[in-house]
Amino acid sequence: MKRYDRALVWFRRDLRAEDHAALSHALAEAREVYCIFVFDTEILDALERKDDRRVEFIWHSLVELKSTLRRLGGDLHVLHGRARSEVPDFARSHDVQAVYVNHDYEPIAIARDHDVAERLAAEQRVLHSFKDQVIFEKSEILNAQDSPYVVFTPYKRAWLARVGRRDSEPHPVADRAQALSPGNAPPLPDLEDIGFARTNLTNLGIPAGESGARLLFEDFLGRVSAYAERRDYPAMVGPSLLSVHLRFGTISIRELVRTAIALDADAGARAGAAVWLSELIWREFYFSILFNFPHVAGSAFRSEYDALKFENRESHFHSWCNAATGYPLVDAAMRQLNSSGYMHNRLRMLSASFLVKDLHVDWRWGERYFAQCLNDFDLAANNGGWQWCASTGCDAQPYFRIFNPVTQSRRFDPEGRFIRMQMPELAGVPEKYIHEPWKMPLDIQRSSGCLIGETYPAPVVDHAVSRKKSLAIYSAVRSQSRSRR
Ligand SMILES: Cc1cc2nc3c(=O)[nH]c(=O)nc-3n(C[C@H](O)[C@H](O)[C@H](O)COP(=O)(O)OP(=O)(O)OC[C@H]3O[C@@H](n4cnc5c(N)ncnc54)[C@H](O)[C@@H]3O)c2cc1C
Repeated sequence: MKRYDRALVWFRRDLRAEDHAALSHALAEAREVYCIFVFDTEILDALERKDDRRVEFIWHSLVELKSTLRRLGGDLHVLHGRARSEVPDFARSHDVQAVYVNHDYEPIAIARDHDVAERLAAEQRVLHSFKDQVIFEKSEILNAQDSPYVVFTPYKRAWLARVGRRDSEPHPVADRAQALSPGNAPPLPDLEDIGFARTNLTNLGIPAGESGARLLFEDFLGRVSAYAERRDYPAMVGPSLLSVHLRFGTISIRELVRTAIALDADAGARAGAAVWLSELIWREFYFSILFNFPHVAGSAFRSEYDALKFENRESHFHSWCNAATGYPLVDAAMRQLNSSGYMHNRLRMLSASFLVKDLHVDWRWGERYFAQCLNDFDLAANNGGWQWCASTGCDAQPYFRIFNPVTQSRRFDPEGRFIRMQMPELAGVPEKYIHEPWKMPLDIQRSSGCLIGETYPAPVVDHAVSRKKSLAIYSAVRSQSRSRR
């Protein structure tokens, strides 16, 4: 006996028709299930660029999702408007009794869902919400004092001790699909219809949708054994490149975790899979931090660091955004971000540290810039990453540990392969100078086609001087907060 005659699944950051908690529950509990996605103008209107790769990624993923749902006997209605009114309006016009969604943990989304639930309730409809994006959420992993962990290693230990086979079991869809409501949804609006334009996403070879995620995952499984050794070198294909798929839910976290745990039995892949699983757990750690300490969206996790006196020079920020700091690996990182919407993890750490601790620009400026540019932008991971680099976060890099941009470059891009890939203006620079091109004698500058101050900028700051200044900025706050105690 089913609970409802008609239900509605509202897709958000879960754009797949496989192993989907809300869809699976709706199909089990309702006789007829509609599926919708809303291009939410509250989100879209805030995007600065109309050629935003994320909107195109979503669009391609929806084209595929619609066709998959149609194959299963259902369809996808794609709407454009304010989700908080579009969803209740659709529920009313299709006379559904319940709306099914997966939990979203971002403060703005929580408020929106609360609002939608109230509007539905006013008409005797209900909103059911499920855990889907993570293995453990909210308060599921707590320490001995029943508080959320604020240090990663014990969190990870507790996570690993708790995870069992059931936590990563799939939520079935295909064998319940007969409840999907058939056809009749209008075609998807074009990107232009919703005010957006095509980007270079397809040329970049970033595949969207469930099929794109599968392609990347299968490719990664062939090289997971080398993950631990390769993942820090941006010129190598080391990481999985799945972050944008995890962001938009075109692959299930349960499948990834299940696979990573199963690889423990494979001696060849074990070490790589364990390190990779650790990264997936970092993702959950930051979700838990954002959910339990929502003040981090906008403020330092450790509030004493809100008193940091950053210089915030516009010209410095501008040079960082535009890959013109004069430090080749930092600039190559920013070029990668600007041209593709992706940045390698090692480079996210380096470029964030450089902005805050060399250029003395508020970490929130960098966080905002990443939020505009990253295809995989996720509030929890981005905020966690920035606060880690700025030493303002939980379990962060100690403030006195400051990446040296030249040493990092020598270590992680020793021959300058990544630098040359991203920065054609440095392609002819000899290996000896690739990490510090400003040290090139003039004749070598001429012969290599790289004139410092003309075709490539001189360093905007001296790292040694900046480092000292940074230590002073952080020490001032620390002594202030000590004297207050
Ligand atoms: C300043 C800064 C900002 C960042 N902003 C984001 C962001 O907006 N969105 C985002 O998904 N990741 C962010 N990260 C984390 C990390 O850099 C990316 O997840 C990773 O580079 C994505 O590449 P991948 O999918 O190939 O990762 P893999 O190495 O294959 O890792 C697998 C998955 O684990 C997760 N993951 C890996 N590292 C981290 C981490 N440190 N924190 C949280 N999750 C992690 C991601 O979902 C990733 O897809 C940020 C890191 C820093 C230092």
